This record gives sequence, C-alpha cells and structure tokens, in this order.
Amino acid sequence: MGLVVPGVVDEVRRIAGYSANIGWQDVPFGELIDARTGLTTALGHDVRAGAVAEARLGAGAGSDNVLFVAIGTGIAAGHVLSGVPYPGAHGAPSELGHVQVVCTDGPRCGCGRYGCLEAVASAAAVARRYGEAGGDRVAAAEVVRRAVAGEERAGRVWRRTVELLADGLITAMRLLDPEVIVIGGGLAEAGAALLDPLHAAMMERLAFQTMPRLVAAALGDQAGCIGAALLALDRFHAGFAAGSTTGH
Ligand SMILES: [Zn+2]
Repeated sequence: MGLVVPGVVDEVRRIAGYSANIGWQDVPFGELIDARTGLTTALGHDVRAGAVAEARLGAGAGSDNVLFVAIGTGIAAGHVLSGVPYPGAHGAPSELGHVQVVCTDGPRCGCGRYGCLEAVASAAAVARRYGEAGGDRVAAAEVVRRAVAGEERAGRVWRRTVELLADGLITAMRLLDPEVIVIGGGLAEAGAALLDPLHAAMMERLAFQTMPRLVAAALGDQAGCIGAALLALDRFHAGFAAGSTTGH
C-alpha cells in the first residue's frame, strides 16, 4: 500500500513527523497501517509523490529535471531528478511555500514566520487579500475569474499574486535550474490566466539563467494518488528495505 501525507515525512522510518495544518506529530503510519491491513505500507509526502507522478507520467514526462509546484490551500514543491524525488536530509526539502518573499512586515504564516510565499500567494491567501482589499468573501478561483473579466480590485490582487509567485519561483529556479516547472494544485486551474503572466513575470526576473518550460499539471487531483501507487511499486520492486519483508 502507498500512503502519502503532508508535512514533514520520514519515508525510511515511515513516520509522519509534523504537519502544521493537521497538527499531528511523530505518527508511525507505516506500522499502524501494516497492522490494520496486513499489507506492507510505503509512506511518502503528498506533494513529492504528486511531483513524481507528474514527472514520470504527466506534464513533466520526458524530462529528467522537473520541479513540481502545488499551489492550493498552501504552497509546496517537489524536485524530481530522473524520476526520483529529492528526499532532503530531514524529510522536509523543497519547502517553497516558506521562502520569504515579503519583508518582515508581511502577513504571518502558519509556520510562525512572516511574509512566506504561501502566506501571500496561496489560493487561501488570494481569497483573504481580496477581502482585505474590500472585496466580498469569494474563493480564489472567483477572484481570478473577476480579474480576467476586468474587475479592477480583483485585477490588482491577481497581478500582485503573480508577481509574488514569480519571486518565489525565481528563487527555486536560481537554486535548482530545472528543465520544466509544472504548476499544479487548485490555483493551476486558472490555466492561461496564471501561466501567461507568470511566465512574463519570470522572464523579467530571469537575468542570466535559462528559462525552464512552465507548464500546467496534467494529472489534476489524481497526482497524489498516482504518486502514492508509484511509491508503493518502487518500494515493492526494491524489496521493501524498511518495514516488514512481505510485499503485496
Ligand atoms: Zn511559512
């Protein structure tokens, strides 16, 4: 069985270390689910698993260097090299959502710091900022729709969102030099209303590096599930080095 969860995940010990949004800490999901199902469970990180699915089977297929960025309630990323996600030393790599893009007077993030990318440019943040700008309480998708339709307030919020996302993605690009950046998560459903201005804003900031291909995710909300299955298959083929020795 493949199970993927958010937050800090120790894939080797199969423990969900920490999730700010859910509130759990050090949950040994591998053991717990092995015991209840009689199957051998591979535990992974939801966005890294989605990144692997997009890199192998989705919008990044054919490239060996894919950065997947999920923009939804929060913002998270996964960097996949030759089909394998970079795991980090402590189970928490590619935390693009917590890269600071606004100085210390920015809004407080769920992580406790100020001005993180996800505190200003996630779908939740777009909806909140639209409200703060005097708009009514609507979801981010509606803010984008209004911006495209020419509403000035929504346009201002959306243009600023794109600028902030470009700042965050340029930082990732500077460090990782990916061949393809795949944009997924709920906000990616904005399609060209996101990707076209985002591409332009990144080009303005590019300087000396090569602009990666910037594409929309192909697997939608199935990416995490497919990634969980790929993780289980990979572990199965590797003989489940961690955990129980029986594979199903
Ligand atoms: Zn943060």
